[in-house]
Amino acid sequence: MSWELVVKDKFSSAHFLDHYKGKCERMHGHTFEIEAHFKIKENQLDKSGIGIDFTKLKAHLNSLLPDHRVLNEVFDFSPSAENLSRYFYYKLKEKYPVSKVIIWESDYAGAIYSED
Ligand SMILES: [Zn+2]
Repeated sequence: MSWELVVKDKFSSAHFLDHYKGKCERMHGHTFEIEAHFKIKENQLDKSGIGIDFTKLKAHLNSLLPDHRVLNEVFDFSPSAENLSRYFYYKLKEKYPVSKVIIWESDYAGAIYSED
């Protein structure tokens, strides 16, 4: 028996894509949505039935987000949805049992990173 806990947050930032030909090579902004999933097994629930406190997960996730920044200045990689989901996955893994991270660039397009 297992659960997948999910927390969501948003950040608004600008970026452009390196080595890309098309409109996304120019600076533009998104309100990125991030979803982080965490795997919990039954023996990890505490007496109140909680695997990991959502309040702690949300606060930690929020502390990692580069809100109102130019992502190309923050990161040393091209800030695509693919690279961002992988980056946040490994940042979260330093502290919690993350299983996947989803970065939505819009309501209709996003990237999911996991180690599968
Ligand atoms: Zn973009």
